[in-house]
Amino acid sequence: MTRTLPAAVDVREVGPRDGLQGEAPIAPEDRARLVAALLDAGVRRIEAVSFVSPEAVPAMAQPRAVLSALPRHEGVTIAALVPNLRGADMALEAAVDEITVTVAASAEYNRRNVNMSIDESVRAVTEICARCADAGVSVDAVVSCAFGSPYEGDIPSTDVAQLAERLRQAGATALTLADTTGMATPRVLADVLAATGTDVGLHLHETRGTGLLNAYAAMEMGVRRFDSSVGGLGGSPFAETAAGNLATEDFVALLDDLGVRTGISLARLLRASALAEHLVGHRLPSPVYRVGPRLG
Ligand code: MG
Repeated sequence: MTRTLPAAVDVREVGPRDGLQGEAPIAPEDRARLVAALLDAGVRRIEAVSFVSPEAVPAMAQPRAVLSALPRHEGVTIAALVPNLRGADMALEAAVDEITVTVAASAEYNRRNVNMSIDESVRAVTEICARCADAGVSVDAVVSCAFGSPYEGDIPSTDVAQLAERLRQAGATALTLADTTGMATPRVLADVLAATGTDVGLHLHETRGTGLLNAYAAMEMGVRRFDSSVGGLGGSPFAETAAGNLATEDFVALLDDLGVRTGISLARLLRASALAEHLVGHRLPSPVYRVGPRLG
């Protein structure tokens, strides 16, 4: 049987940021240990920290302490999420390799999340991109609620594509479409990707048990960049229904089976998962972590 699968995909690990932000605060040295364990497993792109207000998100406090405790790895991209220009300046000062910004395709979600209209958010991204361009740092703009909003329901794919284009015009060097509330299905993905093109990253959630299914479907449609989170940690603290990022273990196990390269060793990744579970102090949702990989 013939299938159109890529030889390799790019996996961006988001557990240390997206995964841990909703957890009880963990010491910066321990967060750095988790990042180091993930790099040791072969992760080459990782969202390690965010430069947000420590009052707003206590679990993300002291990003500089996390970064300075990290070992230097050749060929690794360390990314930081920033909410505004001030955060971008701090991240650039801390010499991160990539900056992540988010704008929701849902006007209501954007308002509740950052108290800005979509236009205001795009203007803020424009300023951040200009600053990053001066510093030679790339910006990945994440469109959240790209596959549906808990407030408006379906977002027209033309609206998502239009916002993506505006973010490219604003200077974003890469785009990621996020299924913030787990509303994507292969049908919705096909609709949105037809409008945006497949030169996007995908940030998928398991809220409705479709994360891994959607990743497989998107790969067949031509997408080559995916976010995932160690253990399946994380969701959105601003959307009650959103729980569980696509788990890195589940994704890598599937890709290994399909012969799609990620550069990540599942055996070593599972050691990082054990550390993550120890640090958060509760069980991780990833089934592959829970029961182990299938025997080959
Ligand atoms: Mg997420």
